[in-house]
Amino acid sequence: MQKIIEGVYTIVGLVTGRVYVIVNGDGLTLIDASVEGAEKGIARDLARSGYSLKDIRRILITHAHPDHIGALAALVKASGAQVYAHALESPIVRGEKPPVRPEGYKDSEVARRLFRLIGIKDMPPASVDCEVREGDSLPEVLPDLQVIEAPGHAYGQIVFYSPSSKLLFCGDAITRFGRLGLPLAQFTPDMAEAKRSIKKLAEMPIDILCFGHGVPMTRNTSARLRAFAAKL
Ligand SMILES: [Zn+2]
Ligand SMILES: [Zn+2]
Repeated sequence: MQKIIEGVYTIVGLVTGRVYVIVNGDGLTLIDASVEGAEKGIARDLARSGYSLKDIRRILITHAHPDHIGALAALVKASGAQVYAHALESPIVRGEKPPVRPEGYKDSEVARRLFRLIGIKDMPPASVDCEVREGDSLPEVLPDLQVIEAPGHAYGQIVFYSPSSKLLFCGDAITRFGRLGLPLAQFTPDMAEAKRSIKKLAEMPIDILCFGHGVPMTRNTSARLRAFAAKL
């Protein structure tokens, strides 16, 4: 695992779908669950730090896309972890509904092949134990960790914020492919709402921004995010 700050790490060695690990008294909390099959890589990287999948107590899901919940069912099976997600995403996690795509978007055969190439496969159904919403706090994870709704990329996209650490886990609300960017259009059913969410997040003091895709940003973060949001 690569350390971000004391007690907060990211799993290394995954192809796509970043996973964060928060270590506290009773075990591990994961943020997101990467792609189907990633449980092997997660187990390998946890083992390097002396942990196993059985140490996972909770898995917080930012949104139900296959690169964020693909390994969820396998991780829950191995650990018995409690799964947290927004009520709008939980039917998708449970496999009762597909993820919402933009109007007119079709998964072409080319797109499907591209996904398989970068390791994005299916999303086996998993349970949700705890539905969370804006304003909820999760002291069992970090003393001041808050749930914030940031819809647009997914209707139930949530992000997790620690004011004392100025630390934000933003899922796919904001991406970092080199520079800060919008979520990918073909997977974002409401881009206008996604932009409003970015502007809302940019108003918060942030030192460390942890993306679902891309390397965490740790320098000049708030200023860079505000500059990006101002252009939207
Ligand atoms: Zn996504
Ligand atoms: Zn993603």
